[in-house]
Amino acid sequence: MKRFVLFVLAAAAAPAALAPEESRLASVISADLLRAHVSFLASDALEGRDTPSRGLDAAAEYLASQFRRLGLKPGAGQSYFQTASMDSVQQPMEGFTLELKWNGGSYSADPSRAAVMGGEALELNGAPAVRVVWQSPDDPLPPRESVAGKAVLLSAPARSAAYTEKRRQLLALEPAVLITAGPTFRARAMLEERRTFQPRRVPVVMVSDSGFAQALESLNGAATVNLRIPPPQRQPVDLKNVVAVLEGSDPKLKDQVILLTAHYDHVGVREGGEGDRILNGANDNASGTATVLALAEAFARHPARPRRTLVFMLYFGEEKGLIGSRYYARNPLFPLHKTAANLNFEQMGRTDDNSGSRAGKLTASGFDYTTLGELLTLAGKDTGVEAFKDGSNSDSFFSRSDNQALADLGIPAITVSVAWTFPDYHRPGDEWEKLDYENMERAVRTCAIAVWRAANADTAPQWISSNPRTARYVQAHSQLHGAR
Ligand SMILES: [Zn+2]
Repeated sequence: MKRFVLFVLAAAAAPAALAPEESRLASVISADLLRAHVSFLASDALEGRDTPSRGLDAAAEYLASQFRRLGLKPGAGQSYFQTASMDSVQQPMEGFTLELKWNGGSYSADPSRAAVMGGEALELNGAPAVRVVWQSPDDPLPPRESVAGKAVLLSAPARSAAYTEKRRQLLALEPAVLITAGPTFRARAMLEERRTFQPRRVPVVMVSDSGFAQALESLNGAATVNLRIPPPQRQPVDLKNVVAVLEGSDPKLKDQVILLTAHYDHVGVREGGEGDRILNGANDNASGTATVLALAEAFARHPARPRRTLVFMLYFGEEKGLIGSRYYARNPLFPLHKTAANLNFEQMGRTDDNSGSRAGKLTASGFDYTTLGELLTLAGKDTGVEAFKDGSNSDSFFSRSDNQALADLGIPAITVSVAWTFPDYHRPGDEWEKLDYENMERAVRTCAIAVWRAANADTAPQWISSNPRTARYVQAHSQLHGAR
């Protein structure tokens, strides 16, 4: 059955309407090249490339050595590494106590049902508590003087983007601590950018316990808080975005940069349990990383350079919350207002999408947010690959990868993918043998041609402003450009 499908696709791919230089570009990208990159990056030797880990560092060295082999210019001064100095912060819960007291009752938290995020060590004894209740995201913020320096008990519905933003505003009013109901998890290390000056931050205590929820509801009148948060433990770590440049050929357009990106980290090794515990992250995202390396190779080997400059960049820390791409957005190596577009790549190898086979297909998040979607569609017509908008996934996955960091700044940025969802997602079974490298070859060739055309076109890629979902990005784009 599979052989038959491949035969049909090969036949469909044959009548190519590619220009000779496009065929030449695409021909460098092969299934073997992609397999070679993915099989190393997703090998057990790299132990799932957690951020931070030795496996991640080894992967970064591999990426840099590939750029070196291709003779590409380093993107961070003399180096391929943009090094982010961060602290890995762990909050110990031994010695944590939380007690609420009110007229006629009290509540004492079980430390195993509590988690602390952010902030520093804190000790409160009989501190007056202020209860803030939100029933809708439109409820007003309390006045600063009523909460500043106080212990705030927040009662609000389950978290959503609107409430997250509102909570951020509440924290900006500088309470001593924010205590709220919420999911707790095994205390993980958090990564924070290391700075010479650390402003005092407000710790957020989350308690997942019905007793706490009841206490929060039954409180009325005065209440006090006894709280002890032990000091967090900090460990310095250096993390690396890996960056190389291919300078454009056009005297004017070469100032403009197209970013080709993917995250090279994954989630490491599962603690405890039977059998294979290494989460290899072959499809997520050794495949996107291999895509960027293969694009780098195709463009580096091509006799003609494209008019715009191409930047190849692999991010750390996506799985920990887009940390590498957000770091880059705060510390750009190329002027943001000259950054014409970002094509980010994720999950390019597996075709066994949960909703059916993705052989011969290609999709992207924000497929109809920017003109890049149309470029992919047209390139796919010439390579026999169908580029399409994936129902609701193309919209809902927009914020779930590194394109978001640049989109927030107004740069047209999408994530290209073959399958958004697949059976071994974030499991030890995401191994390199399961990728369809022949299909991946066609998909990545299609991307190469779309990038070639984007880099050579007279006009840069644009947000599609008629799509209401792009409103905030269109606004950010005009801010980015209007401010000059
Ligand atoms: Zn990923």
